[in-house]
Amino acid sequence: MDYDICIIGGGPAGYLAGIRAAQLGAKTAVIEMDELGGVCTNRGCIPTKSLLEVASPILSSGKWTDMGLDINYKLNLKSAISRMNDVVVYIRAGIKALLDSNKVDIIKGKAQFIDRYTLKINDKQTVRARFVLVASGSTPSIPDIEGIHLDGVLSSDGIFTMQSVPESAAIIGGGAIGIEYATILKSFGTKKVVIVEFMDRLLPFMDPDISSYAKNIMEGMGIDIILSHKATALSSSAKGIKLGLQPSSGSHAGDTAALDTDRVFVVTGRKPNTAGLGLDGIGVSTSKGWIDVNMAMRTSVDNIYAAGDVNGIKLLAHAAFHQGMIAVENMLGAQKLFEPALVPSVVYSKPPVAMVGMDEKSAQKAGRDVKVGVFDLANSPMALVHGEPSGFIKIIADKKYGLVLGASIAGESAYELISVFAGGIAGEMTVDELRRTVFAHPSLSEGIAESAWAVDGLSQHTMNKGTV
Ligand SMILES: Cc1cc2nc3c(=O)[nH]c(=O)nc-3n(C[C@H](O)[C@H](O)[C@H](O)COP(=O)(O)OP(=O)(O)OC[C@H]3O[C@@H](n4cnc5c(N)ncnc54)[C@H](O)[C@@H]3O)c2cc1C
Repeated sequence: MDYDICIIGGGPAGYLAGIRAAQLGAKTAVIEMDELGGVCTNRGCIPTKSLLEVASPILSSGKWTDMGLDINYKLNLKSAISRMNDVVVYIRAGIKALLDSNKVDIIKGKAQFIDRYTLKINDKQTVRARFVLVASGSTPSIPDIEGIHLDGVLSSDGIFTMQSVPESAAIIGGGAIGIEYATILKSFGTKKVVIVEFMDRLLPFMDPDISSYAKNIMEGMGIDIILSHKATALSSSAKGIKLGLQPSSGSHAGDTAALDTDRVFVVTGRKPNTAGLGLDGIGVSTSKGWIDVNMAMRTSVDNIYAAGDVNGIKLLAHAAFHQGMIAVENMLGAQKLFEPALVPSVVYSKPPVAMVGMDEKSAQKAGRDVKVGVFDLANSPMALVHGEPSGFIKIIADKKYGLVLGASIAGESAYELISVFAGGIAGEMTVDELRRTVFAHPSLSEGIAESAWAVDGLSQHTMNKGTV
């Protein structure tokens, strides 16, 4: 064998798995056909957050005026995109340096299985390994709608090469990417931004209170939201692109509507990168292309594992990181399981929103008797100091023992605060233990203890509405 472990894909799942495998003493190679870092570094997490960082002061300029700072911003799109690219290149170089320093071989090329131990790379080279980790990720899934390939209709990749800010834009898909793109475009100066969502709320995979909050902040920015509608067709019009719409369900399902827009971003979903890998030939089971795995990340073939987007469990970079590490550790004798309940979902709207574990509905569905505590960030001194008093921290706990089952956060730093709850769920923490924890004052995290008290109506920094 050439290697103990060969990894197909150098995205978050693949490169981190490579480093972990090397730390454990395995002779390891990462095969990447494009750029190291995968979607997250090159066309996902990192470039979107770089653009959102530019959006941030533009969106909060009113707040700074209130605080006594008069700042006039003028966007330089070219510089913003160029700085975004610099961050991407820097991180990519860092990934290569980390792999090199761990003595992981990086093989450039497209891998395909010949048999369960052998991979062909670019039809030239073959490598053999005891174990193979498939971490080939996903790409945008473009719905089969008339006119979808017109100029000006873009996938999620399209925003990173934007030469100018469009006058108007329609975003098909009200999930995390749709909301982040709407935020970027509106703050950059797109006058009319419309989000079209098939379901009856934005962020349908999150707590309904988060969906309502997200809708309010989007509408507060002047973004139009069209819920319960699907895109039916696209055509060229004198005003740019005509987007045909239809209600997605209900008694008006046959009605039609249309809107004119300069640019359309289609961010409705992803599809797995499994075509051409030769999985069928070696008996790796898939469902609609996504690789079937158990929570040990093992596929139906016992020396082949799959981690990250390609298994479709959670399409998030931090889930990919964890799955990649679990997969290689298990190859080398560990018995670890991936725990989806510990994976936070985050949307980097302004302010951001985040959720981990169960919401009320899913807890009740799982047969749990729950109590809920909500702390309003308007009562947080630090949120007021920061001029960001909008939002809440909501905690779902088991009624009998106060076990933390889930949490949702809307408001500044939600993406940092949510990890406290992820750790709490991992450690099977109760609300009493959160109450015992001493959070620094002033800090936003104080709201976590307040939400733990709030499950029994005892948040101290909330007006007493009666005796308890
Ligand atoms: C716009 C956008 C924003 C996002 N923002 C966030 C965010 O803020 N936070 C978050 O957690 N997630 C975010 N995501 C999701 C995140 O990018 C993915 O979950 C993550 O990249 C998945 O990592 P992965 O390693 O599984 O796959 P990928 O990142 O897709 O990497 C797979 C790699 O495998 C390579 N490859 C594929 N086939 C082969 C082959 N046959 N041979 C060799 N190489 C191959 C590909 O070239 C690619 O580099 C975002 C996604 C998008 C699109």
